[in-house]
Formats: sequence, structure tokens, C-alpha cells
Amino acid sequence: MNFNGSGFSEYIKILERFTGLEWIGFSLVVNIALFLFSIGLYFFIEKTCPKKKIQDFSHPITRSDFYLSLLTVFCNCLVMLLGVFLWKNRWIELGDHLSPVSIFFEVVILILLMDFCMYLFHYAAHMPFVYKRLHGKHHEHVHTNFLSLFVLHPVETIGFGLMILALLVGYDFSVISITTYLFINLVWGTIGHLNKEFFPPQFDRYFVGTTQFHNQHHLDETKNFGFYTSIWDRIFKTYKK
Ligand SMILES: [Zn+2]
Ligand SMILES: [Zn+2]
Repeated sequence: MNFNGSGFSEYIKILERFTGLEWIGFSLVVNIALFLFSIGLYFFIEKTCPKKKIQDFSHPITRSDFYLSLLTVFCNCLVMLLGVFLWKNRWIELGDHLSPVSIFFEVVILILLMDFCMYLFHYAAHMPFVYKRLHGKHHEHVHTNFLSLFVLHPVETIGFGLMILALLVGYDFSVISITTYLFINLVWGTIGHLNKEFFPPQFDRYFVGTTQFHNQHHLDETKNFGFYTSIWDRIFKTYKK
């Protein structure tokens, strides 16, 4: 089985015919839908997961956090449009390795490469000069809530997007691998800010960046800079159980 069917080619052809205005509309619809999906997933897991809460209470929902979250969604639209621009101008080429095995390996490679880039980026964001101006806002949430993932400075959101785009310029990943990776990234970020541990306890031993792993970073800002895995924190001695 592979995804190289006529349906998929048709889908790409439709996207190729999009005008600039249609791309703007499409990116807004997709990013707002993903924002709402993340909030829905957050409440679904919180309500259905039988485990006890990690923290006694959640950070209050404020108007300024809500507006900042919308700004993050807007920045994600800008990154998506920049990606489309790079694709149209052939800086980004989409690979045609569409077998499930290729897609699996491409997604794993994207996760591991981004995990390393994000560790460095996040570590740098904690340098006092940068922290005070950019990353400190995210850490006002010592206790997390359903907006925490989106409470980011626009420079952080765009910086994260540019890292992904740089990888896409460097290698021709397929559009399915890219979409799958971005979806996993959203789900992972949502899980990382839950108030209940999503993963079974033994996952920590396999270097998975669990809910408690990122929760610990909100409690102790000198530890756990990783995101998908704890590999780099263990190597660079910033890991805290
Ligand atoms: Zn941080
Ligand atoms: Zn966080």
C-alpha cells in the first residue's frame, strides 16, 4: 500500500491552483481548527483520564493569554504562508517517497532533528536577556492550563517555524510526513501541558518527553529543556525526573 493514488495527486493539484488569497483563507481555517482541536483534546483527556492531577490547581485563564494565543495562531499562519511561498519558488521541494516505511522514517527523522534543535533553542531562550524579553511569559504559567502551549512570544513561534522550514529546505520530505509531524507536534504540545500524566510511568525510562517531564520544567526552569524526548537533557545533565 502507498499513498501515491490519484486522490492524493488530485489533492496536491487543487493546492497548486490556490491563489494567494485562497492560501491566506486556507491557512487561517487550518490553524484556527488546530487551535480548537488542541483545546478539545486537552479537555477530553483531562475529563476521561482516571489518573490523579499532577498539580492541585491550574493557572487562571486571562484575557491577555487568550489574545496572545490568538497571536500565536496568527504567527503559525504566517509561517505556513512562508512555507507555501518557499514551495512555490522551489526552495522547498516535496519528496515523492510515499510508502508507509518511508513516511515512518521521515517522521522519526523530523522528530529527532527537531528535538535537538528545540533543545538548543529552548536552552538559549532561558538565557537571562532572552528570557526576560521572550520566554518569561510562557513561564508565568507555573501551573499550566489549556492555553499554556499557545502562550508564547511571537518571536518564539516564528523561530520554531523557521527551524522547521530550514529542515524542509534541506531535505525533500513528503507532504504526508510533514503533515504527520506537525500534527504529532501539536498533540505532543497539548499533552505536555496537561495536568494529568498521559503516558504510562515506564515511558520515562525510554526517554519519552512525558507530561510530567515538561511539567517539571514549569516548576524548575533550570531542568528539562527537551520536548519530544529527554535524550538531550540526559546527555547535557539538565534532566530531572
Ligand atoms: Zn522554558
Ligand atoms: Zn511549557
